[in-house]
Amino acid sequence: MSTKRTTWLANPLAIFTGTDEDARGGLVVSGPVIVEIVPLNSEPVTPYEEKVYLTDQVVIPGLINTHHHFYQTLTRALPAALNKELFPWLQTLYPVWANLDPEVHRAATRLALAELLLSGCTTASDHHYLFPANLTDAIDHQVEIGSEMGVRLALTRGSMSLGKYQGGLPPNSVVQTEQAILADSERLVAKYHDRSRFSMSQIALAPCSPFSVTTELMRDTAIMAEKLDVRLHTHLAETIDEENFCEKMFGMRTVDYLESVGWLSNRTWLAHGIHFNEAEIKRLGQAGTGVCHCPSSNMMLASGICHVKELEVAGSPVGLGVDGSASNDCSNMIQEVRQAMYIQRLRYGSSAVTHFDAYRWGTSGSAKVLGRDDIGTLAKGMAADIATFKLDEPRFSGAHDPLAALLLCGAHRAESVMVNGEWRVKSGELVGMDIEQIMYEHKRAAATLAARAIA
Ligand code: ZN
Repeated sequence: MSTKRTTWLANPLAIFTGTDEDARGGLVVSGPVIVEIVPLNSEPVTPYEEKVYLTDQVVIPGLINTHHHFYQTLTRALPAALNKELFPWLQTLYPVWANLDPEVHRAATRLALAELLLSGCTTASDHHYLFPANLTDAIDHQVEIGSEMGVRLALTRGSMSLGKYQGGLPPNSVVQTEQAILADSERLVAKYHDRSRFSMSQIALAPCSPFSVTTELMRDTAIMAEKLDVRLHTHLAETIDEENFCEKMFGMRTVDYLESVGWLSNRTWLAHGIHFNEAEIKRLGQAGTGVCHCPSSNMMLASGICHVKELEVAGSPVGLGVDGSASNDCSNMIQEVRQAMYIQRLRYGSSAVTHFDAYRWGTSGSAKVLGRDDIGTLAKGMAADIATFKLDEPRFSGAHDPLAALLLCGAHRAESVMVNGEWRVKSGELVGMDIEQIMYEHKRAAATLAARAIA
Protein backbone atom coordinates (compact mmCIF):
# COMPACT_ATOMS: atom_id res chain seq x y z
CA MET A 1 0.00 0.00 0.00
CA SER A 2 1.41 3.36 -0.99
CA THR A 3 1.49 5.96 1.78
CA LYS A 4 0.75 9.53 0.80
CA ARG A 5 3.81 10.83 2.66
CA THR A 6 5.59 13.67 0.89
CA THR A 7 9.38 13.47 0.85
CA TRP A 8 12.05 15.81 -0.51
CA LEU A 9 14.99 13.79 -1.82
CA ALA A 10 17.34 16.70 -1.45
CA ASN A 11 20.54 17.94 -3.04
CA PRO A 12 21.97 14.86 -4.76
CA LEU A 13 25.67 14.68 -5.49
CA ALA A 14 24.66 14.36 -9.18
CA ILE A 15 21.44 13.53 -10.97
CA PHE A 16 20.49 12.18 -14.40
CA THR A 17 16.80 12.86 -15.03
CA GLY A 18 16.56 12.08 -18.73
CA THR A 19 15.20 15.62 -19.31
CA ASP A 20 16.77 19.09 -19.65
CA GLU A 21 15.30 20.35 -16.40
CA ASP A 22 17.63 21.54 -13.61
CA ALA A 23 17.09 18.98 -10.84
CA ARG A 24 20.22 19.65 -8.82
CA GLY A 25 18.09 20.51 -5.77
CA GLY A 26 16.52 17.05 -5.95
CA LEU A 27 12.90 15.97 -6.26
CA VAL A 28 9.76 15.74 -4.21
CA VAL A 29 7.85 12.48 -4.08
CA SER A 30 4.28 12.13 -2.83
CA GLY A 31 2.76 8.65 -2.77
CA PRO A 32 3.71 6.91 -6.02
CA VAL A 33 4.40 10.14 -7.97
CA ILE A 34 7.16 12.69 -8.44
CA VAL A 35 5.36 15.97 -7.71
CA GLU A 36 8.17 18.50 -8.07
CA ILE A 37 11.64 18.89 -9.51
CA VAL A 38 13.83 21.23 -7.46
CA PRO A 39 16.50 23.41 -9.14
CA LEU A 40 19.93 24.09 -7.64
CA ASN A 41 19.96 26.14 -4.40
CA SER A 42 16.16 26.09 -4.15
CA GLU A 43 13.58 24.86 -1.69
CA PRO A 44 10.53 22.93 -2.92
CA VAL A 45 7.27 24.82 -3.31
CA THR A 46 5.39 21.68 -2.24
CA PRO A 47 5.07 21.28 1.54
CA TYR A 48 6.92 18.14 2.63
CA GLU A 49 6.96 16.00 5.77
CA GLU A 50 10.36 14.43 5.37
CA LYS A 51 13.71 15.51 3.97
CA VAL A 52 16.21 12.86 2.89
CA TYR A 53 19.67 14.22 2.06
CA LEU A 54 21.31 12.67 -0.99
CA THR A 55 24.43 14.80 -0.90
CA ASP A 56 26.67 11.73 -1.17
CA GLN A 57 24.58 9.91 -3.77
CA VAL A 58 24.18 9.83 -7.53
CA VAL A 59 20.52 9.68 -8.59
CA ILE A 60 19.11 8.15 -11.76
CA PRO A 61 15.64 6.97 -12.85
CA GLY A 62 14.99 3.38 -11.78
CA LEU A 63 16.48 1.12 -14.45
CA ILE A 64 14.11 -0.79 -16.71
CA ASN A 65 14.96 -4.30 -17.79
CA THR A 66 13.14 -5.25 -20.99
CA HIS A 67 14.26 -8.86 -21.49
CA HIS A 68 15.07 -11.64 -19.07
CA HIS A 69 14.38 -15.30 -18.31
CA PHE A 70 14.23 -15.50 -14.51
CA TYR A 71 14.29 -19.31 -14.49
CA GLN A 72 17.73 -19.31 -16.11
CA THR A 73 19.31 -18.07 -12.88
CA LEU A 74 19.19 -21.78 -12.01
CA THR A 75 21.63 -22.73 -14.77
CA ARG A 76 24.38 -20.17 -14.35
CA ALA A 77 27.85 -21.29 -15.34
CA LEU A 78 26.62 -24.81 -15.93
CA PRO A 79 29.66 -26.81 -17.13
CA ALA A 80 27.81 -28.61 -19.96
CA ALA A 81 26.68 -25.31 -21.49
CA LEU A 82 29.95 -23.39 -21.28
CA ASN A 83 31.72 -22.04 -24.36
CA LYS A 84 28.97 -22.65 -26.92
CA GLU A 85 27.15 -20.60 -29.56
CA LEU A 86 23.37 -20.06 -29.32
CA PHE A 87 21.93 -23.20 -30.97
CA PRO A 88 24.19 -25.83 -29.32
CA TRP A 89 23.91 -23.83 -26.05
CA LEU A 90 20.10 -24.04 -26.25
CA GLN A 91 20.13 -27.72 -27.20
CA THR A 92 22.26 -28.48 -24.12
CA LEU A 93 20.00 -26.53 -21.80
CA TYR A 94 16.48 -27.37 -23.04
CA PRO A 95 16.49 -30.87 -21.43
CA VAL A 96 17.67 -29.34 -18.12
CA TRP A 97 15.01 -26.61 -18.23
CA ALA A 98 12.34 -29.21 -19.09
CA ASN A 99 12.57 -30.37 -15.43
CA LEU A 100 11.44 -27.05 -13.96
CA ASP A 101 8.76 -27.32 -11.30
CA PRO A 102 6.86 -24.72 -9.25
CA GLU A 103 9.27 -24.78 -6.32
CA VAL A 104 12.47 -24.21 -8.29
CA HIS A 105 10.75 -21.67 -10.54
CA ARG A 106 9.56 -19.63 -7.56
CA ALA A 107 13.05 -19.66 -6.06
CA ALA A 108 14.50 -18.46 -9.38
CA THR A 109 11.94 -15.67 -9.73
CA ARG A 110 12.59 -14.39 -6.20
CA LEU A 111 16.36 -14.43 -6.66
CA ALA A 112 16.25 -12.71 -10.07
CA LEU A 113 14.00 -9.93 -8.77
CA ALA A 114 16.18 -9.45 -5.68
CA GLU A 115 19.28 -9.20 -7.83
CA LEU A 116 17.62 -6.73 -10.19
CA LEU A 117 16.39 -4.51 -7.33
CA LEU A 118 19.84 -4.44 -5.73
CA SER A 119 21.32 -3.25 -9.03
CA GLY A 120 18.95 -0.28 -9.32
CA CYS A 121 16.24 -1.88 -11.44
CA THR A 122 12.62 -0.90 -10.72
CA THR A 123 10.75 -2.41 -13.68
CA ALA A 124 11.41 -6.00 -14.69
CA SER A 125 10.29 -7.78 -17.80
CA ASP A 126 10.46 -11.53 -18.04
CA HIS A 127 10.07 -13.83 -21.02
CA HIS A 128 8.89 -17.17 -19.70
CA TYR A 129 8.19 -19.76 -22.39
CA LEU A 130 8.52 -23.11 -20.59
CA PHE A 131 5.28 -24.56 -19.32
CA PRO A 132 5.78 -28.26 -18.55
CA ALA A 133 2.58 -29.96 -17.35
CA ASN A 134 3.24 -29.13 -13.68
CA LEU A 135 4.15 -25.49 -14.30
CA THR A 136 1.25 -24.07 -16.30
CA ASP A 137 0.86 -21.27 -13.75
CA ALA A 138 4.44 -19.96 -14.01
CA ILE A 139 3.33 -16.39 -14.80
CA ASP A 140 0.88 -16.44 -11.88
CA HIS A 141 3.84 -17.20 -9.59
CA GLN A 142 5.80 -14.34 -11.08
CA VAL A 143 2.97 -11.86 -10.51
CA GLU A 144 2.54 -13.03 -6.93
CA ILE A 145 6.26 -12.85 -6.08
CA GLY A 146 6.80 -9.57 -7.96
CA SER A 147 3.93 -7.94 -6.05
CA GLU A 148 5.27 -9.21 -2.73
CA MET A 149 8.68 -7.73 -3.54
CA GLY A 150 7.25 -4.47 -4.92
CA VAL A 151 8.85 -4.61 -8.37
CA ARG A 152 7.00 -3.14 -11.36
CA LEU A 153 6.37 -6.01 -13.78
CA ALA A 154 6.16 -6.30 -17.56
CA LEU A 155 5.69 -10.04 -17.85
CA THR A 156 5.38 -11.79 -21.17
CA ARG A 157 3.49 -15.02 -21.83
CA GLY A 158 6.04 -16.96 -23.83
CA SER A 159 5.37 -20.10 -25.79
CA MET A 160 6.94 -22.87 -27.84
CA SER A 161 4.86 -24.90 -30.28
CA LEU A 162 7.41 -26.14 -32.82
CA GLY A 163 9.04 -29.26 -31.38
CA LYS A 164 11.90 -31.27 -32.82
CA TYR A 165 9.51 -33.57 -34.66
CA GLN A 166 8.21 -30.57 -36.64
CA GLY A 167 11.67 -29.24 -37.49
CA GLY A 168 11.96 -26.89 -34.50
CA LEU A 169 14.72 -26.70 -31.92
CA PRO A 170 13.11 -27.51 -28.53
CA PRO A 171 12.37 -31.07 -27.32
CA ASN A 172 8.75 -32.13 -27.77
CA SER A 173 8.14 -32.36 -24.00
CA VAL A 174 8.31 -28.58 -23.55
CA VAL A 175 6.09 -27.49 -26.45
CA GLN A 176 2.37 -26.76 -26.02
CA THR A 177 -0.56 -26.78 -28.41
CA GLU A 178 -1.60 -23.52 -30.01
CA GLN A 179 -5.04 -23.69 -28.38
CA ALA A 180 -3.54 -24.11 -24.89
CA ILE A 181 -1.13 -21.21 -25.46
CA LEU A 182 -3.77 -18.80 -26.74
CA ALA A 183 -6.32 -19.70 -24.07
CA ASP A 184 -3.76 -19.15 -21.32
CA SER A 185 -2.59 -15.88 -22.89
CA GLU A 186 -6.13 -14.57 -22.83
CA ARG A 187 -6.61 -15.70 -19.23
CA LEU A 188 -3.41 -13.95 -18.08
CA VAL A 189 -4.23 -10.67 -19.82
CA ALA A 190 -7.71 -10.65 -18.26
CA LYS A 191 -6.31 -11.39 -14.82
CA TYR A 192 -3.10 -9.37 -14.61
CA HIS A 193 -2.88 -6.71 -17.33
CA ASP A 194 -3.45 -3.43 -15.55
CA ARG A 195 -3.70 -0.55 -18.05
CA SER A 196 -3.84 2.25 -15.48
CA ARG A 197 -1.11 4.89 -15.03
CA PHE A 198 1.62 3.64 -12.66
CA SER A 199 0.42 0.09 -13.24
CA MET A 200 2.56 -2.44 -11.39
CA SER A 201 1.69 -5.40 -13.62
CA GLN A 202 1.34 -5.72 -17.36
CA ILE A 203 1.25 -8.74 -19.66
CA ALA A 204 2.50 -9.07 -23.25
CA LEU A 205 2.27 -12.04 -25.61
CA ALA A 206 5.59 -13.60 -26.51
CA PRO A 207 6.13 -16.67 -28.70
CA CYS A 208 9.73 -17.64 -27.99
CA SER A 209 11.37 -17.26 -31.42
CA PRO A 210 10.82 -18.18 -35.08
CA PHE A 211 12.70 -21.44 -34.53
CA SER A 212 10.46 -22.62 -31.69
CA VAL A 213 6.91 -21.70 -32.73
CA THR A 214 4.74 -22.32 -35.79
CA THR A 215 3.84 -19.61 -38.30
CA GLU A 216 0.18 -20.04 -37.36
CA LEU A 217 0.94 -19.29 -33.72
CA MET A 218 2.91 -16.14 -34.63
CA ARG A 219 0.01 -14.94 -36.78
CA ASP A 220 -2.73 -15.81 -34.29
CA THR A 221 -0.80 -14.24 -31.43
CA ALA A 222 -0.55 -10.95 -33.36
CA ILE A 223 -4.31 -11.05 -33.98
CA MET A 224 -4.96 -11.71 -30.29
CA ALA A 225 -2.62 -8.90 -29.21
CA GLU A 226 -4.53 -6.51 -31.46
CA LYS A 227 -7.86 -7.69 -30.07
CA LEU A 228 -6.75 -7.47 -26.43
CA ASP A 229 -4.64 -4.35 -27.03
CA VAL A 230 -1.45 -5.70 -25.47
CA ARG A 231 2.16 -5.75 -26.66
CA LEU A 232 4.06 -8.41 -28.57
CA HIS A 233 7.53 -9.69 -27.78
CA THR A 234 9.90 -12.29 -29.24
CA HIS A 235 13.56 -13.06 -29.89
CA LEU A 236 14.63 -12.00 -33.37
CA ALA A 237 17.81 -11.72 -35.43
CA GLU A 238 20.03 -12.81 -32.56
CA THR A 239 22.43 -14.93 -34.62
CA ILE A 240 23.41 -15.81 -38.17
CA ASP A 241 22.24 -19.38 -37.42
CA GLU A 242 18.76 -18.01 -36.84
CA GLU A 243 18.87 -16.04 -40.09
CA ASN A 244 19.86 -19.21 -41.95
CA PHE A 245 17.12 -21.16 -40.20
CA CYS A 246 14.53 -18.57 -41.24
CA GLU A 247 15.64 -18.64 -44.87
CA LYS A 248 15.62 -22.42 -44.94
CA MET A 249 12.36 -22.92 -43.07
CA PHE A 250 10.28 -19.98 -44.35
CA GLY A 251 12.18 -18.93 -47.47
CA MET A 252 12.67 -15.39 -46.19
CA ARG A 253 14.79 -13.16 -43.96
CA THR A 254 13.76 -12.41 -40.38
CA VAL A 255 12.14 -9.00 -40.96
CA ASP A 256 10.19 -10.30 -43.98
CA TYR A 257 9.00 -13.14 -41.78
CA LEU A 258 8.03 -10.69 -39.05
CA GLU A 259 6.00 -8.67 -41.55
CA SER A 260 4.40 -11.78 -43.05
CA VAL A 261 2.97 -12.79 -39.67
CA GLY A 262 1.65 -9.31 -38.80
CA TRP A 263 4.33 -8.38 -36.29
CA LEU A 264 6.03 -5.42 -37.98
CA SER A 265 4.34 -2.78 -35.81
CA ASN A 266 4.81 -0.45 -32.86
CA ARG A 267 3.11 -3.06 -30.68
CA THR A 268 6.19 -5.27 -30.95
CA TRP A 269 9.56 -5.27 -29.21
CA LEU A 270 12.31 -7.66 -30.17
CA ALA A 271 15.02 -9.13 -27.99
CA HIS A 272 18.53 -8.73 -29.53
CA GLY A 273 17.71 -7.44 -33.04
CA ILE A 274 21.30 -7.73 -34.27
CA HIS A 275 21.40 -9.04 -37.81
CA PHE A 276 19.43 -6.46 -39.80
CA ASN A 277 20.56 -4.79 -43.02
CA GLU A 278 20.07 -1.07 -43.75
CA ALA A 279 16.74 -1.49 -45.51
CA GLU A 280 15.42 -3.70 -42.71
CA ILE A 281 16.42 -1.16 -40.05
CA LYS A 282 14.48 1.47 -42.00
CA ARG A 283 11.39 -0.72 -42.11
CA LEU A 284 11.63 -1.50 -38.38
CA GLY A 285 12.02 2.20 -37.60
CA GLN A 286 9.10 3.24 -39.80
CA ALA A 287 6.94 0.67 -38.08
CA GLY A 288 8.15 1.83 -34.63
CA THR A 289 9.15 -1.70 -33.66
CA GLY A 290 11.24 -1.64 -30.47
CA VAL A 291 14.50 -3.44 -29.81
CA CYS A 292 15.89 -4.67 -26.51
CA HIS A 293 19.68 -4.60 -26.70
CA CYS A 294 21.30 -7.32 -24.54
CA PRO A 295 25.03 -6.55 -24.64
CA SER A 296 26.38 -9.09 -22.14
CA SER A 297 24.40 -11.96 -23.61
CA ASN A 298 25.47 -10.97 -27.13
CA MET A 299 29.13 -10.98 -26.07
CA MET A 300 28.81 -14.21 -24.08
CA LEU A 301 27.30 -16.11 -27.03
CA ALA A 302 29.33 -14.08 -29.58
CA SER A 303 26.07 -13.29 -31.38
CA GLY A 304 27.09 -9.89 -32.80
CA ILE A 305 26.57 -6.19 -32.02
CA CYS A 306 23.14 -4.52 -32.27
CA HIS A 307 22.94 -1.45 -34.58
CA VAL A 308 21.57 0.67 -31.77
CA LYS A 309 22.24 4.12 -33.24
CA GLU A 310 20.84 3.36 -36.70
CA LEU A 311 17.74 1.83 -35.12
CA GLU A 312 17.14 4.92 -32.98
CA VAL A 313 17.65 7.27 -35.93
CA ALA A 314 15.25 5.17 -38.02
CA GLY A 315 12.57 5.53 -35.32
CA SER A 316 12.82 2.33 -33.29
CA PRO A 317 12.77 2.69 -29.51
CA VAL A 318 15.86 0.97 -28.05
CA GLY A 319 16.10 -0.30 -24.48
CA LEU A 320 18.30 -2.68 -22.52
CA GLY A 321 17.94 -6.17 -21.11
CA VAL A 322 20.14 -8.47 -19.07
CA ASP A 323 18.69 -11.49 -20.92
CA GLY A 324 18.50 -14.87 -19.22
CA SER A 325 21.05 -15.48 -16.56
CA ALA A 326 22.42 -18.52 -18.32
CA SER A 327 23.78 -16.28 -21.06
CA ASN A 328 24.89 -13.31 -18.96
CA ASP A 329 25.19 -14.91 -16.23
CA CYS A 330 24.06 -12.18 -13.86
CA SER A 331 20.97 -9.97 -13.63
CA ASN A 332 22.68 -6.71 -12.83
CA MET A 333 21.11 -3.76 -14.65
CA ILE A 334 23.66 -1.06 -13.82
CA GLN A 335 26.42 -3.34 -15.10
CA GLU A 336 24.37 -3.90 -18.24
CA VAL A 337 24.22 -0.14 -18.85
CA ARG A 338 28.03 -0.10 -18.66
CA GLN A 339 28.32 -3.06 -21.03
CA ALA A 340 26.01 -1.33 -23.52
CA MET A 341 28.21 1.76 -23.52
CA TYR A 342 31.35 -0.28 -24.16
CA ILE A 343 30.07 -2.69 -26.79
CA GLN A 344 28.46 0.19 -28.70
CA ARG A 345 31.77 2.06 -28.62
CA LEU A 346 33.29 -0.92 -30.41
CA ARG A 347 30.81 -0.34 -33.21
CA TYR A 348 30.65 3.45 -33.35
CA GLY A 349 33.83 4.77 -31.70
CA SER A 350 34.33 6.17 -28.22
CA SER A 351 33.34 9.77 -29.00
CA ALA A 352 30.04 8.67 -30.56
CA VAL A 353 28.69 6.85 -27.50
CA THR A 354 28.51 8.70 -24.17
CA HIS A 355 27.44 7.62 -20.71
CA PHE A 356 24.29 9.67 -21.28
CA ASP A 357 23.42 7.47 -24.28
CA ALA A 358 23.81 4.39 -22.13
CA TYR A 359 21.66 5.85 -19.32
CA ARG A 360 19.01 6.78 -21.89
CA TRP A 361 18.84 3.20 -23.24
CA GLY A 362 18.44 1.76 -19.74
CA THR A 363 15.74 4.24 -18.67
CA SER A 364 13.56 6.23 -21.10
CA GLY A 365 14.54 4.00 -24.05
CA SER A 366 13.46 0.91 -22.17
CA ALA A 367 10.22 2.63 -21.08
CA LYS A 368 9.36 3.34 -24.73
CA VAL A 369 10.17 -0.25 -25.64
CA LEU A 370 7.56 -1.35 -23.09
CA GLY A 371 5.09 1.24 -24.40
CA ARG A 372 5.03 3.22 -21.15
CA ASP A 373 4.97 6.99 -20.71
CA ASP A 374 4.83 7.03 -16.89
CA ILE A 375 8.31 5.64 -16.09
CA GLY A 376 11.89 6.13 -17.33
CA THR A 377 12.53 9.81 -16.55
CA LEU A 378 12.58 11.88 -13.38
CA ALA A 379 10.01 14.59 -14.05
CA LYS A 380 6.85 15.97 -12.49
CA GLY A 381 3.96 13.54 -12.90
CA MET A 382 6.18 10.51 -13.52
CA ALA A 383 6.22 7.44 -11.27
CA ALA A 384 8.53 7.68 -8.26
CA ASP A 385 10.93 4.98 -9.53
CA ILE A 386 14.40 6.04 -8.42
CA ALA A 387 17.82 4.46 -7.92
CA THR A 388 20.67 6.04 -5.98
CA PHE A 389 24.31 5.01 -5.79
CA LYS A 390 27.07 5.91 -3.34
CA LEU A 391 30.58 6.32 -4.65
CA ASP A 392 32.17 4.98 -1.48
CA GLU A 393 34.08 1.96 -2.74
CA PRO A 394 37.77 1.90 -3.72
CA ARG A 395 36.73 1.65 -7.39
CA PHE A 396 35.31 5.22 -7.23
CA SER A 397 38.04 6.79 -5.14
CA GLY A 398 39.11 10.16 -6.53
CA ALA A 399 36.59 10.05 -9.40
CA HIS A 400 35.80 13.49 -10.80
CA ASP A 401 32.51 13.36 -12.72
CA PRO A 402 30.07 11.35 -10.53
CA LEU A 403 27.61 10.46 -13.33
CA ALA A 404 30.38 9.25 -15.62
CA ALA A 405 32.07 7.47 -12.70
CA LEU A 406 29.02 5.34 -12.01
CA LEU A 407 29.51 3.59 -15.35
CA LEU A 408 33.24 4.02 -15.96
CA CYS A 409 34.30 2.82 -12.51
CA GLY A 410 31.78 -0.01 -12.64
CA ALA A 411 28.97 0.52 -10.09
CA HIS A 412 27.29 -2.77 -9.30
CA ARG A 413 25.08 -2.18 -6.27
CA ALA A 414 22.50 0.53 -5.59
CA GLU A 415 22.46 2.36 -2.27
CA SER A 416 18.70 2.84 -2.33
CA VAL A 417 15.87 1.99 -4.70
CA MET A 418 12.35 3.38 -4.67
CA VAL A 419 9.57 1.75 -6.70
CA ASN A 420 6.22 3.53 -7.01
CA GLY A 421 7.10 5.70 -4.02
CA GLU A 422 8.14 2.83 -1.73
CA TRP A 423 11.73 2.13 -0.63
CA ARG A 424 12.61 -1.42 -1.67
CA VAL A 425 16.37 -1.08 -1.10
CA LYS A 426 17.95 0.99 1.67
CA SER A 427 21.63 1.18 2.62
CA GLY A 428 22.34 -1.38 -0.10
CA GLU A 429 19.99 -3.99 1.45
CA LEU A 430 16.53 -5.23 0.48
CA VAL A 431 13.84 -3.79 2.73
CA GLY A 432 11.77 -6.43 4.54
CA MET A 433 13.28 -9.34 2.62
CA ASP A 434 15.86 -11.85 3.78
CA ILE A 435 18.47 -12.12 1.03
CA GLU A 436 20.24 -14.98 2.83
CA GLN A 437 17.05 -17.04 2.80
CA ILE A 438 16.33 -16.14 -0.84
CA MET A 439 19.84 -17.28 -1.80
CA TYR A 440 19.67 -20.43 0.31
CA GLU A 441 16.46 -21.54 -1.41
CA HIS A 442 17.77 -20.57 -4.82
CA LYS A 443 21.05 -22.48 -4.46
CA ARG A 444 19.12 -25.54 -3.35
CA ALA A 445 16.80 -25.20 -6.35
CA ALA A 446 19.73 -24.85 -8.77
CA ALA A 447 21.36 -28.00 -7.34
CA THR A 448 18.08 -29.90 -7.54
CA LEU A 449 17.56 -28.99 -11.20
CA ALA A 450 21.11 -29.94 -12.15
CA ALA A 451 20.78 -33.28 -10.33
CA ARG A 452 17.54 -34.06 -12.21
CA ALA A 453 19.35 -33.57 -15.52
CA ILE A 454 21.98 -36.15 -14.56
CA ALA A 455 19.46 -38.65 -13.12
ZN1 ZN B 1 16.37 -14.21 -24.27
